Amino acid sequence: MYRNFRFDVISVADRARCGILKTSRGEIRTPAFVFCGTKASVKAVTPQQLKEVNTQIILSNTYHLFSYPGAEHIKMLGGLHKFMGWDKPMFTDSGGFQIFSLGYGSVANEIKGKRSGIPKLIKVDERGAVFKSYWDGNTQLLTPEKSIKIQRDLGADFIVSFDECTPYRIEKKRTEESMERSHRWEKRSLDAFEQFNDYSQALYGIVQGGIYADLRKRSAEFVSDNPFFASAIGGTLGATKEQMYEVIEMAMNGLNISRPIHLLGIGGIVDIFKGVALGIDTFDCVHPTRIARHGGALVKSQYRDGSSREHINLKKSTYKNDDSPIELDCNCLTCRSFSRAYLHYLLKANELLALQAITIHNIKFMNALMEEIRSGITQNNLKTISEKWC
Ligand SMILES: [Zn+2]
Repeated sequence: MYRNFRFDVISVADRARCGILKTSRGEIRTPAFVFCGTKASVKAVTPQQLKEVNTQIILSNTYHLFSYPGAEHIKMLGGLHKFMGWDKPMFTDSGGFQIFSLGYGSVANEIKGKRSGIPKLIKVDERGAVFKSYWDGNTQLLTPEKSIKIQRDLGADFIVSFDECTPYRIEKKRTEESMERSHRWEKRSLDAFEQFNDYSQALYGIVQGGIYADLRKRSAEFVSDNPFFASAIGGTLGATKEQMYEVIEMAMNGLNISRPIHLLGIGGIVDIFKGVALGIDTFDCVHPTRIARHGGALVKSQYRDGSSREHINLKKSTYKNDDSPIELDCNCLTCRSFSRAYLHYLLKANELLALQAITIHNIKFMNALMEEIRSGITQNNLKTISEKWC
């Protein structure tokens, strides 16, 4: 079923593991970070720049692309890879997250933060989700079959089954009903996938079940018992960091660990170390590239400004006269070329170069972090590595 894909675990330290995820467009060394190119573009940088800082894989959002310019349009132009000039591995999501998280209103923002392009959720029934498009205001129905068809047309290497994403503050019974419906939708996704399988794509199943241990375990077992290539942990992960780690562990308890495991929407440094320690292989999040566009540069602990944050805000006047690079030991183009003072000035002067330069640094930072995590697992010194980065 997935003859052009393969996942080999090559090194293990407790539950953390290093692996190689093989695709026809190249290998991904795991643990790895997946950068968000929501609308077929990682904002402010070119595919060439992404490669120069060792990016292995990116993700595009189905919801945005099928709203505009449409999956068939992208298919007609040769598929998403050709359309955006990215020839390495790529993910698309099912499109459900944007519709559900934003459609369910403000409580849902706690899951993964606010997003642009807000659809209006009209109703959810057994067929799928009816919503009003953010792009043209038309009412549309997204079903599991349609999500798979759209993702087939887009042509990413890794695609995701369609599920319902419920907010944190709902009771257990409602979470369970939603999870059961997600399972039925995931089965339909799998059937639609198998019907047209040409071996160019691999399908992820998603673990739901909210913050409830028994539901998470049941959902993880459902995903493991069905012929998905890999598993992703989705849905609400709780209200606090501690709860998030607990929920990840609940899901991990039922997952088939011979398959790759993705954690949806998480990208903080501490969170990545925690996730890796629990056995997560890949992560995605808009955070590193989004904060860059607001002047936030990710830095290791020694370069921080005393706050508990994992980045420094280059808009702050503190950096006006700071002629050192973002990080002295970073060899990205930005750190080799520009001082913090210059980046501060560019931000204040509203120069576009600031956004590109800080984005390049943050992507390099995440890729270097994942590389050190991989060597930390191989050499069994993840704890020492984490002290440097957290
Ligand atoms: Zn740098």
